[in-house]
Amino acid sequence: MAPSREVNVIPVGDEEFLLTVTAGEAVHLSRAAGPDETARSAVPGRHLRRGQTTSQMRWRAYNRASLAERRWAETTLCGRQWIAMTGHEGEDADEPGDEAFAPTCRRCLAIMDKLFPEPVLNDQFALIAQIITATVAEHGYAEMHNVPGDHHAALRKQVRSAVRQRTGHGLQTLVHESMVIFICEPISKQHAAERERAAAEAMNSVLTGEPTLMPTPWRLSWDTWADS
Ligand SMILES: [Zn+2]
Repeated sequence: MAPSREVNVIPVGDEEFLLTVTAGEAVHLSRAAGPDETARSAVPGRHLRRGQTTSQMRWRAYNRASLAERRWAETTLCGRQWIAMTGHEGEDADEPGDEAFAPTCRRCLAIMDKLFPEPVLNDQFALIAQIITATVAEHGYAEMHNVPGDHHAALRKQVRSAVRQRTGHGLQTLVHESMVIFICEPISKQHAAERERAAAEAMNSVLTGEPTLMPTPWRLSWDTWADS
């Protein structure tokens, strides 16, 4: 099997930050280079030649093209020169690892927080999360339409923990454009027939132009509840 491990990044919003090491112990963050900046690869080119040195062995499990891609700014967020992406030290670099690399440089983390401030949540956020939770507890399913993009993550997190607290079940969440979908499989199974009827009804109304008669209590809209 071809080495397929991708570069070690953490995604934040639409961006990715490479986890990097300098001469010190800390794990730093490096952003992608801007269009006018010199960009460098995740590991130095000499590490990518096939060979038996420790640094060459270390990257065997990774996808070479993504390691070699000149994509990253030359300094860490905190302004240091970095040596390479974080990687395994040991012999078992090929093993499918569950190792988690996490940034530890406080300056890098503080700078990243400033780049992506927590959204100011809508005044009705708690109420909206409660309504979704109640809907999921009742039907095993809820759709919230027109959710502002910066509220997606907070809403998913809040409803997930509320559903677990209230029903003891886990929750799956999906995002489709501005719609956030909440599915609780065990509850949802009990209501599958009801939803199938509604889906058929909706399809029928699309074909015939007749309005839908079936109530769809799990279909919710942000604008109904949010303060504008
Ligand atoms: Zn740093």
